[in-house]
Amino acid sequence: MQIGCHGLVWAGTVEPDDVEKAVTKTLDAGFDLLEMPLFDPESFDVDAARAVLSAHPIAVSASMGQTADSDPHSEDPACVQAAERKLLAAIDVLEALGAQYFVGALYTELRKYEQPATRAARAHAVGVVQTAADRAAEAGITLGLEVVNRYETNLFNTGRGALAFLDEVDRPNVGVHLDTYHMNIEESDMAQPVLDCADRLVYVHVGESHRGYLGSGTVDFDGFFKALVRVGYDGPITFESFSTAVVHDDLSRMLAIWRNLWDDSEDLGAHANAFIRGRIRAAETIALH
Ligand code: MN
Repeated sequence: MQIGCHGLVWAGTVEPDDVEKAVTKTLDAGFDLLEMPLFDPESFDVDAARAVLSAHPIAVSASMGQTADSDPHSEDPACVQAAERKLLAAIDVLEALGAQYFVGALYTELRKYEQPATRAARAHAVGVVQTAADRAAEAGITLGLEVVNRYETNLFNTGRGALAFLDEVDRPNVGVHLDTYHMNIEESDMAQPVLDCADRLVYVHVGESHRGYLGSGTVDFDGFFKALVRVGYDGPITFESFSTAVVHDDLSRMLAIWRNLWDDSEDLGAHANAFIRGRIRAAETIALH
């Protein structure tokens, strides 16, 4: 099981200097894996990132959120095609970096919707994910579709909703990506979605109810980690937290970061690494009871 950290804990971009900073800070905090946010895969400096990654004992994954001009479930075919191109470009980057997981809201633009998804929009999203999955399979990459809350997509908002969507996608290298921040808003509790998804769960984001320090909000992490251990989850677990101390203004607005809950990345990251490893260790000892 790899314990990882989202790159935006350390730096606001994936320019070469920021990638190097994120790699070294992630390792210094005790993590095994860096999750890189791929904002624009076509302009990403693959060679620079590969050089830094190969010089350090660290695994890498990548995440992406779709934007207004590249929405997989748009009614506009040009916009759907742009989303598909962006995913395929990202998979090329991941393949070059030797990454195993490509995760996040790959299937939707992240925004508040004013109506339910139409049948056509859902079909577009399914088609885009199928195309991306087939290319990812050639590269040995697993896709994780992140379940996000109702204010960020209208396609699905729960683990069970994701499983129904995955049945339509029908590709073996696509699974569910759960995030405790979103689960805390939408799910019945923090264990049921893990038990429901079980071996179709491929990636996990750990975030607090307000996206600040783990343990300072309302998320039931005990229930969540016990459920992960109970289903034998062994995929990546990545810490995610955002502050305008690091994240630039545009993205801060998109993520609705209106107040800062931390200003010291090193302290936050080291705390999160210890918190996650401690909870997993405690849950594992239940086998001795
Ligand atoms: Mn997340």
